[in-house]
Amino acid sequence: MKREDTKRIYVGNVAVGNGARVTVQSMTNTDTKDVESTVKQIKEFESIGCDISRSAINDLEDAKAIPIIKSMTNIPFIADIQFHHKLALAAIENGCDCIRINPGNIGGIDRVKEIVDCCKHHKISMRIGVNSGSINQKFIDKYHGVNVDSICYSCLDQIRMIEDMGFDDIKLSLKSSNVNMSIKAYEKMSELCNYPLHVGITEAGPSTKGIIKSSVGIGSILSKGIGDTIRVSLTGDPKEEIIVGRQILMSLGLLNEGIEIISCPTCARTKIDLISIVNEAEKKLDKIDKHIKVAIMGCVVNGPGEAKEADIGIAGGNGVGLIFKKGEIVRKVKEEELLDVLIEEIERL
Ligand code: SF4
Repeated sequence: MKREDTKRIYVGNVAVGNGARVTVQSMTNTDTKDVESTVKQIKEFESIGCDISRSAINDLEDAKAIPIIKSMTNIPFIADIQFHHKLALAAIENGCDCIRINPGNIGGIDRVKEIVDCCKHHKISMRIGVNSGSINQKFIDKYHGVNVDSICYSCLDQIRMIEDMGFDDIKLSLKSSNVNMSIKAYEKMSELCNYPLHVGITEAGPSTKGIIKSSVGIGSILSKGIGDTIRVSLTGDPKEEIIVGRQILMSLGLLNEGIEIISCPTCARTKIDLISIVNEAEKKLDKIDKHIKVAIMGCVVNGPGEAKEADIGIAGGNGVGLIFKKGEIVRKVKEEELLDVLIEEIERL
């Protein structure tokens, strides 16, 4: 089932599924009940384009903080619950926009039903999260281990149980730190049901390795037309997850916001300090609210030609740079003035 054909659900006022824009999520790492810190972090998330935020609810104080946090922030709030169904009920009653549970960890069908009934009553959605570490043993035995079939059929079993309770405002996540298994599991799940899929590679790791694993995994899944909302999981500042998530979407044409920079890798033909110019440009362009492509290339031999698709760009020369638009050179500028002129030209566009 491609993302155009999945079921539409809502997390607060944000649509997920059935062709809605693919959204970016992250998770706070503050103590949720520390309202000041949690609100500060969610506001930072908002400022860099996060669509939905999730926080762990570890005790009743966390649940009671939800209305205060929500009153001071703008993006939907998902309550993440491990094990304790009473905390799920408290989080829903305190106004979370969606609840994330692994029904297999909640302690029995009656407790799951209480949560489902509470979601129905408060008209909120539910994310069912199954990861490779929490597959029902019955399915591990049946499918001979932790594999794509055991993940998917364990998840499907939980979905059917919740559907039988008369609830289907559901999105699913099937997480594995194994990239190949994740890709295949999401592909299979997209054939087995039409629920929107929350895509991520769990425990992807520290910065560079985690970014690569997430980009390959999430990017592969999204490029098949599968996946309705994403979360990049990195060991580090969660803001980086949002930046990477948005870049993944932009690189696949699933998010048409912001300025895309195309820059060359530099080589012996590069006669200007291209790397510094690109680093500075990235910071400055981040503050400009336009959706264009900007190319920053090292030479006139290949630069403008290679970057014909760009709206505007620089091609370096010997201590100078040429400004080009749509691959045509329009101005010659000294190296030290290049960046300022580029920004001026972009602002004029
Ligand atoms: Fe080298 Fe020019 Fe290509 Fe940059 S654009 S890598 S300077 S050939």
